[in-house]
Amino acid sequence: MGERYENIVLGAHYVLTLGHLRDWHVLRVICGHCHRVGYIHPIELRRRHYADNMPLNELKPRFRCTKCGNKRGNSWETCRLPRD
Ligand SMILES: [Zn+2]
Repeated sequence: MGERYENIVLGAHYVLTLGHLRDWHVLRVICGHCHRVGYIHPIELRRRHYADNMPLNELKPRFRCTKCGNKRGNSWETCRLPRD
């Protein structure tokens, strides 16, 4: 499923906040330890009551890898859901 997501550049990582993400965006998070790739939908983040001005870089350490439990050294990029 996830492989169909298309990478997009919304802006420099340090300026992007949760508010920049729309419902058709998705965050691809790569584990810094086992390199497992996970996808996080902005709706999930809003459900956790993160504010729209929350920088995505600050959210990064809160993403725990579902495979190895690691939270350190993760990287992320923005993607778009398939349009069909
Ligand atoms: Zn991992």
